[in-house]
Amino acid sequence: MIEMDKTAQTGDMSPAAQLVEMLGPDLVLTGEATLPYCRDWHGDVQTGAIAVLRPRSTPEVQACVKAAAALRLGVVPQGGNTGLVLGAVPESSGAQVVITLERMTQVRTLDVDNFSAVVEAGVVLEQFKETVAKAGLFFPLTLGAQGSCRIGGNVATNAGGVNVLRYGMTRDLVLGLEVVLPDGSLFEGLSLLRKDNRGIDLKQMFIGAEGTLGIITAVSVKLLPAPDQVATALIALPKLADAIDLYRRARRECCDLMSAFEFMPPLAMVLAKEAMPDLQIPLTGYPAYALIEISGSGLVDIDALMERFLETAFESGLALDGVVAQSHAQAKNLWDIREGMNLGQAERGRHMRSDISVPLSRLAEFVTEAEAALTAEMPGCVCVSYGHIGDGNVHLNVMPDYSLGEDQIDPQISMAKKIMNAVLDRYDGSISAEHGIGRLKKEDFEARLPDVHRALLTSIKRAVDPHLIMNPGCQIDLP
Ligand SMILES: Cc1cc2nc3c(=O)[nH]c(=O)nc-3n(C[C@H](O)[C@H](O)[C@H](O)COP(=O)(O)OP(=O)(O)OC[C@H]3O[C@@H](n4cnc5c(N)ncnc54)[C@H](O)[C@@H]3O)c2cc1C
Repeated sequence: MIEMDKTAQTGDMSPAAQLVEMLGPDLVLTGEATLPYCRDWHGDVQTGAIAVLRPRSTPEVQACVKAAAALRLGVVPQGGNTGLVLGAVPESSGAQVVITLERMTQVRTLDVDNFSAVVEAGVVLEQFKETVAKAGLFFPLTLGAQGSCRIGGNVATNAGGVNVLRYGMTRDLVLGLEVVLPDGSLFEGLSLLRKDNRGIDLKQMFIGAEGTLGIITAVSVKLLPAPDQVATALIALPKLADAIDLYRRARRECCDLMSAFEFMPPLAMVLAKEAMPDLQIPLTGYPAYALIEISGSGLVDIDALMERFLETAFESGLALDGVVAQSHAQAKNLWDIREGMNLGQAERGRHMRSDISVPLSRLAEFVTEAEAALTAEMPGCVCVSYGHIGDGNVHLNVMPDYSLGEDQIDPQISMAKKIMNAVLDRYDGSISAEHGIGRLKKEDFEARLPDVHRALLTSIKRAVDPHLIMNPGCQIDLP
């Protein structure tokens, strides 16, 4: 453990050198070694930090936080750094350290009988899913970044993903948390209880806080029986509104066994093929697509359910064409189209990415109106709207007119955001359905924050973090 009075003796050293002195060289990266931790996932933004601290245990996280606090440095917690709103990347102020959880990778306990596990914050989501699968269990959080994002980051962002419509957001999967607070003390709340109504549920405060209230070091989570039957289908539709009708029908007819329902535009196939040339594209030339997954375990017959559901979809005229995966490899190929579409957009160049939600009943109307406004005011831009239909969550991304030149890309991205948000406000939508606020959406968030909400958020932040050291500049600015 560190000795806090060392700071007094090392006052004339640089902050980085003081951190090495206080914590030992194994825990502290400085100089060039810090750069990868200060770059966002897309590589659009590169900042810097005084140091990157790499604790291996909860007491070491406490020591790191205390050391940073003693030097009055801001602390930016980091998991897999896959966040899309610059929450895990320090500001370039030169007054912040990154604390990465990448060395805290133990699954502390796996309780098959209680359908639960206690997992350290630095465990990569995909590795955790594989570990519990070996015990016949299932952790339902599923997202494109799961090979890199870490459980602590998932909780700190309250991540969503493709299975939310059945299993909820990360918040719904968390039983308890262990959190290092800004003064270095420990919130010990790794409960394994599913029901516990003893007053205000304090752990909720840290979920979705994006590291502004403390550093999550471990999480207790709910697990489910692994679904041993999964049916995946790609369906072609006459228009986006039909995807929503098909979703409603699936909710009623698939006995709550639907685990994913994504919609994609025709351009999805083109973008996916650009990014992954070996991909098989089984359907092309239709106005809209839905990717549906039904899954279950035990005595139900999932294949028969999918077959009957598709029969009714074709009879009603909602589905024009479709393919059902006949193997795990084919199902993966269909999901790769969904992920390849994202990669294809990134490969074309910088573009406006959004993560918004509107009430499901108005989703098709919103997309039509927003895309019309964008193409009217920005001829030459290309809109790609896709997403998790069941959650009313649309990623309406806008690729600017690249022919206008590199220096016009940022102004076009700002303009696209303004046009889309103006439509979104008329629909009472959210500017962040799942990615959070971070530093990227702070201005848009603050502009829409009611006074009473702001006052509550400010009071909570000041009570938990009176010296404002935890992730400064993330979510809201405090004077
Ligand atoms: C290809 C791709 C697909 C994606 N798909 C989805 C999707 O479908 N749904 C979705 O919700 N998101 C998605 N994301 C966004 C991202 O993966 C999630 O937000 C994820 O939960 C971030 O986890 P991370 O470990 O990478 O966190 P980071 O990026 O490292 O951090 C994110 C935020 O959490 C804070 N934080 C990280 N760890 C901790 C901790 N231990 N304690 C306290 N605060 C912490 C950071 O300070 C930062 O504010 C996607 C990203 C990519 C690149």
